[in-house]
Amino acid sequence: ATPTSIMVGTGRAAEMGVLFRKGDALQMLQDTRVIALDKTGTLTKGSPELTDFLVAEGFDAAEVLRLVAAVEAKSEHPIALAICRAAAERSLGGAEVDGFTSITGYGVSAQVEGRSVLIGADRLMTREGVDLGDLKGQGQALGRKGRTPLYAAIDGRLAAVIAVADPVKPTSAAAIKALQGLGLKVAMITGDNQGTADAIAQELGIDIVVAEVLPDGKVAALEDLRSHGTLAFVGDGINDAPALASADVGIAIGTGTDVAIESADVVLMSGDLTAVVNAFDISALTMRNIR
Ligand code: ADP
Ligand code: MG
Repeated sequence: ATPTSIMVGTGRAAEMGVLFRKGDALQMLQDTRVIALDKTGTLTKGSPELTDFLVAEGFDAAEVLRLVAAVEAKSEHPIALAICRAAAERSLGGAEVDGFTSITGYGVSAQVEGRSVLIGADRLMTREGVDLGDLKGQGQALGRKGRTPLYAAIDGRLAAVIAVADPVKPTSAAAIKALQGLGLKVAMITGDNQGTADAIAQELGIDIVVAEVLPDGKVAALEDLRSHGTLAFVGDGINDAPALASADVGIAIGTGTDVAIESADVVLMSGDLTAVVNAFDISALTMRNIR
C-alpha cells in the first residue's frame, strides 16, 4: 500500500468516527476472518438494572437487600451499582462493613453487622461450599432470559437469587449482521455465565460464544479463536487491554477506559458498533484502490 492511499483511507475513516492509530491496521482488517467482541459495555450498554430478587425460605427480602447492598457499596462493578441503586430506591442503607474482599470474576464478600455476606456468580458459591438448593433452577431460568443471575449467601446459607439485566445496544444486531455479510465469523467473549451468554448471543445472531472467561483468561480465549484466521477484537474495559494488544487488530470503544484506548490499533469515537462496519468498509475501499 502506498503511504498516500493509507493517508487518504485513514482521513476518510476519521470523518466516519474511526481513528486508525496504526496505518497497517487498515491492511490487516482486509485479512481478518474472525471478529471477537467483549459483551459488557461493547455489545451491551454496560449499565445493568436489577430485575429480580427472590429470597430463600426464612429470609426477609428487604433485610437481605440491605446487607447485600452494604457489601456492594464497596465494589465498583456495574452489577454492584445496580444493586446499590435498587437498595437506595427502597431507602435501605447504612450498615457497617468489615473485611471487604473482591474476588475478580467471581464476586464479593464481607462481614456486615457480624454476619458473613457473600454475593456473586454460581461458581463463587461452589468455591465457598454454599449449596444453591431450590434457587439454582430459578437462577438458571433467569439466565435463559438473558439476565445475569447472582447468588447471595448469609452465614454460609443461600439467602437470595438476584438478577440484573444489561440491555443490548440498539445497533448491535444490525452491526453483527453486516459483519457476517462481509464474510466474518462473529464471536462474543464474556465473564458472564454460559446460559446468559447463550441467550444474548442468540438474540444477536452471534456465531461463537465464549462464556465464563476470567478477566486474565481473555488473551487465551482469543488464541483459541485464531484457529479461524486473522483476528480482530473489540473491547472497552481495563480488563480488555491485554486482549486489545494481543489481537491482530485491537479495536477500542472511545467511550471506554483510557487503558483500553491506549492498547488499541483502532479507536471508535462513539459506542455505536456501526463504526466497526465502517472501519471494514473503508479498509476494503482503500485496499481496492491500491491493489
Ligand atoms: P464481565 O465484565 O463480563 O461482567 P467480570 O469478570 O467483571 O465479567 O464478572 C464476572 C462475573 O463475576 C459476573 O457476571 C458476576 O457473576 C460476578 N461478579 C463480579 N463482580 C461482582 C460483584 N461486585 N457483585 C456480584 N457479582 C460479581
Ligand atoms: Mg466490557
